Amino acid sequence: MNEFDIIREYFARQPVTRPDVVLGIGDDAALLAVPADQELVVSTDMLVAGVHFPEGTDPVSIGHKSLAVNLSDLAAMGATPAWFTLNLSLPQADPAWLEGFCQGLFGLARLHELALVGGDTTHGPLTIGIQIMGFAPRGQALRRSGARAGERIYVTGLLGEAALGLRLVQGQLDLPEEFRATVVQQLSRPLPRVQAGLRLRGLASACIDISDGLVADLGHILEASGVGARIHLDRLPLSPAYDAAFQQVGWEAALAGGDDYELCFTVPPERELAFRNASTRFGVSCSYIGDIEAQPGLRILEKNGAPYRAAQRGYDHFRAE
Ligand code: ADP
Ligand code: MG
Repeated sequence: MNEFDIIREYFARQPVTRPDVVLGIGDDAALLAVPADQELVVSTDMLVAGVHFPEGTDPVSIGHKSLAVNLSDLAAMGATPAWFTLNLSLPQADPAWLEGFCQGLFGLARLHELALVGGDTTHGPLTIGIQIMGFAPRGQALRRSGARAGERIYVTGLLGEAALGLRLVQGQLDLPEEFRATVVQQLSRPLPRVQAGLRLRGLASACIDISDGLVADLGHILEASGVGARIHLDRLPLSPAYDAAFQQVGWEAALAGGDDYELCFTVPPERELAFRNASTRFGVSCSYIGDIEAQPGLRILEKNGAPYRAAQRGYDHFRAE
């Protein structure tokens, strides 16, 4: 199978038809119609075998996750996903691998009516680069920079699940059988919070997706907004699986575990009520974890109000001030 066979067999037949794809795969470039009064929202993320997923990860998960991490960025902007391109570097043309990859990729694409409109295919180490495009009404996309003192900080879903999944598949975690499948699922097939992101437009003052861990990503909001925050450990949304793992991982998986793909966002007091009403249609629960403050820096508090001494566990970079 050469490059053109691969494109024809697996990618040119992508399953989503959209009227705004004026010209899709097959020419030198795609032609896409951005709706009037909307801004184009563009993001890209690359996944490298052995870096972003363990070598030997099943192809369905690789296909799913490659698109999921990109969708998560659009979710964080409050954008409606529409199109994507796929740059694929493959060590060999393995039909079974390609079928699995397409199953994961297009399964998620169908769910969000996301059309593959182009890409590039080359021979090389397994690398997947996706560029995703969507739109948001002019001026209404969510940014990292709008958080103000006095606002509440929320996260969707659960924290640290993917980090538990990673430790489990790496043989570094002992977890009761009943919890194993869900944390591995969370690692390999995350469901980006697209609905929540869309409904947060006009409600959240700042938003980010949690890909590098809560502390790091909330830190980006604080920096971009020129504010600080306090968060409460006993408010972090943790699963029964996390409770079972707590002796082994402490707070670290929830605070610094990567790959959660939940949203972290801030809500001004005057929009609190509207937010609570809207959140029933997010398709995921939201947890209030702390508050934005004028004083710069992130303060992490124990249940008794004492500063969390992350250094005890050797994680200096979380040290509360
Ligand atoms: P060119 O040489 O003009 O760049 P290519 O032969 O690379 O064209 O690609 C032919 C068509 O197939 C283009 O429309 C391109 O966008 C599309 N294409 C190539 N690889 C992929 C891929 N992995 N996924 C989707 N479309 C692809
Ligand atoms: Mg090309």
